[in-house]
Amino acid sequence: MDQTRENKKLSVVVSVYNEEQSLDRFYGVTAEVLRDCRWDYELIFVNDGSSDRSLDILRALSVQDEHVKVVSFSRNFGHEAAMIAGIDHAEGDGIVCMDADLQHPPQSIPAIIDKFEEGYEVISMIRTAREDGGLIKKITSAGFYKVLNFVSPLKFEANASDFFAIARPAADVLRQEYRERVRYLRGYVQSLGFNKTTLEFMAAKREAGESHYNIRKLIRFSISTICSFSDMPLKLGIYSGLAAALIGVIVMIYSLVNKLVNDVPAGYSTIIVVLCFMFAATLLIIGIIGEYIAILFAEVKERPIYIVREVIQSGKAQTTEINKIK
Ligand code: UDP
Ligand code: MG
Repeated sequence: MDQTRENKKLSVVVSVYNEEQSLDRFYGVTAEVLRDCRWDYELIFVNDGSSDRSLDILRALSVQDEHVKVVSFSRNFGHEAAMIAGIDHAEGDGIVCMDADLQHPPQSIPAIIDKFEEGYEVISMIRTAREDGGLIKKITSAGFYKVLNFVSPLKFEANASDFFAIARPAADVLRQEYRERVRYLRGYVQSLGFNKTTLEFMAAKREAGESHYNIRKLIRFSISTICSFSDMPLKLGIYSGLAAALIGVIVMIYSLVNKLVNDVPAGYSTIIVVLCFMFAATLLIIGIIGEYIAILFAEVKERPIYIVREVIQSGKAQTTEINKIK
């Protein structure tokens, strides 16, 4: 088998958080696809602090298949941190990041290898349709991209996913730069430049279990993404200040004219309305500034993006310098 393989290697990075129900099937399907590919491969599972049997299953897989490497975190650090760790530990000429729940079809991997061989360095996988999520998820996600593309100088593809592939030069940029704590990995990948292309895929239903994202997490994620790619909200203060000043002048002239011409005292309701409006605008802007300060605070602390507890290969824990904290 290996004689026919070219000298290239593909690293498949899979983030795993409580996926005991999906893992065996994911491994079965993916390993079968990878065995038939022209490139040599490694399968890197990043265990993001799972509390179920995921790590035991992964350990067993690493015993039975030498292509499997497990990077296990000390606790849950989140999906993006897991992908970053996988990219850091990958040795391949090309890296594919995908989910463990089979929503990202492993059957797309041969097409990804074709694109790498054509010389592409960043391959974004575009969702053509999603079988999961209802109408609300579709609408909120479309709305989020509208806002993001409006406020950000960079433009993002609305249907891009956490399923993407990057060649080694692009991965090196992610390894050395873009080590932010508040981040949007998909956005970085799209804004790296390089020789880019897209491939389409149909997002399948989750293999088993439930999505780990809830509305609260998605709102948090949306706010921090917008703030980390745009400073437009920060500048809202100036614009709303100007608008408020203009309204103030109009109200002033109106009150003066009323007083002088009609001898009517300025209205009580006008005061209340203006007061409420001003307080709302001021608090909103303070809130926005707070959001940016929170991001600065997180960056200044320079806490690790992830902490690796162990790296497992062939069932054994490796204690090499790869174990370092990032
Ligand atoms: N995941 C992770 N850490 C987390 C949450 C999720 O590594 O804190 C993994 C999860 O195991 C899956 C992928 O990230 O492989 C996507 O998660 P999920 O399917 O819950 O998200 P959705 O597909 O609904 O966006
Ligand atoms: Mg999923």
